[in-house]
Amino acid sequence: MTVITNHLPTEELQALDAAHHMHPFTANGGLAQKGARVITRASGVTLTDSEGHEILDAMAGLWCVNIGYGRDELAEVAARQMRELPYYNTFFQTTHVPAIALAAKLAELAPGDLNNVFFAGSGSEANDTNIRMVRHYWAMKGKPTKSILISRKNAYHGSSVGSGSLGGMSGMHAQGGLPIPDIHHINQPNWWAEGGDHDPEEFGLARAQELEQAILELGEDRVAAFIAEPVQGAGGVIVPPASYWPEIQRICDKYEILLIADEVICGFGRTGNWFGSETMGIRPDIMTIAKGLSSGYAPIGGSIVSDEIAGVIAQDEFNHGYTYSGHPVAAAVALENLRIIEEEKVVEHVRDVAGPYLKEKWEALSDHPLVGEAKIVGMMGSIALTPNKETRAAFAAEAGTVGFICRERCFANNLVMRHVGDRMIISPPLVITCEEIDTLIARATKSLDECYAELKDQGLLKAAD
Ligand SMILES: *Cc1c(COP(=O)(O)O)cnc(C)c1O
Repeated sequence: MTVITNHLPTEELQALDAAHHMHPFTANGGLAQKGARVITRASGVTLTDSEGHEILDAMAGLWCVNIGYGRDELAEVAARQMRELPYYNTFFQTTHVPAIALAAKLAELAPGDLNNVFFAGSGSEANDTNIRMVRHYWAMKGKPTKSILISRKNAYHGSSVGSGSLGGMSGMHAQGGLPIPDIHHINQPNWWAEGGDHDPEEFGLARAQELEQAILELGEDRVAAFIAEPVQGAGGVIVPPASYWPEIQRICDKYEILLIADEVICGFGRTGNWFGSETMGIRPDIMTIAKGLSSGYAPIGGSIVSDEIAGVIAQDEFNHGYTYSGHPVAAAVALENLRIIEEEKVVEHVRDVAGPYLKEKWEALSDHPLVGEAKIVGMMGSIALTPNKETRAAFAAEAGTVGFICRERCFANNLVMRHVGDRMIISPPLVITCEEIDTLIARATKSLDECYAELKDQGLLKAAD
């Protein structure tokens, strides 16, 4: 058998990758022609590829490497835990120290009476747990008809059948028979793209009130919960107008609808507080967590659940769980990650140092001829590319064409910045320094300049009718 190492030539690695590896969310035929970029190691905010390029990772992997790459402490803890107890389950009246310690720590960090943790292996799994848990909760309360979960168009809650149904990505629903029954989607508070002539705050209020209309139409006795990301991530870092969340909270309270905050991206410091719910001033009944929980060093997710819901669920057997729920190695790694975030004051760094610094530089990008709104909360930001700022026009070219060109320029300039349609988004490691932010902004500006020139050359600066 071929021994596959980093030392094989890039083309050989790419050929093997193309022959055998099916990439997620990728047109694999096209990628095979082009060859995937091979990432070989990383440190801090910087990735290195097989050709020796040093790339600033302004996406923190997939929004997850909150403490940055290359932290030995996590490797040490993982090795120690693997030697001591690499695996045991928590199904059959057994438990273990890493799961106990992590659950207790999360209960301490989470706001209000969110004191109970159901572990999963990922954010998708955790949201599948949430679907079953909220429906089961209402059934246990004698209201089995309350089974509908309301979510939002363009939301991202994961890629399993359940969580993909909860999400509002039309491209995902178009494949594989999604959504499952009793999931209802309302519109997102995306003022830039959908706000028309409305004032942003008025628009935010109207979009929140769609929840109330949906509850009234579907019937209060049919609706179990509303789920949303405090700030939509994969949908394009859509920061809601300030009027949005207070109105959502009011509606959930009024109709006794459970509120699920999907904190998979916003959690663990990204918005400048431990949780996005704190930044947005909401009181969820359940929070979904994953990604930054372990800074991506080990796969782990979960649901942090209120005392009320956990108390009701506890009255009977909940026929649900994953082989890797509370996996000891992943839990130990997550616990060490939380220790680092706390002791090194990473959340304070986002709130008081890196966040304000990045905000100033990021918002200044809106002076660029190609950039409409520039939005940012803590360490998650977006810019809308547009051929006409005044009218907030979309491009005549198919959505995503321009974003893709911009992303390619970023890659060429050793910057990972992602595109969602024609919005460019960032979510860098939370430990990024002000100097590294300068580098990020310089590379982003150069890429925007090059993208602008290319659009002019190709006649793509036209607005859609
Ligand atoms: C990534 C993500 C998920 C899914 O998490 P996985 O670990 O990829 O399953 C769920 N919700 C949000 C908000 C996410 O960004």
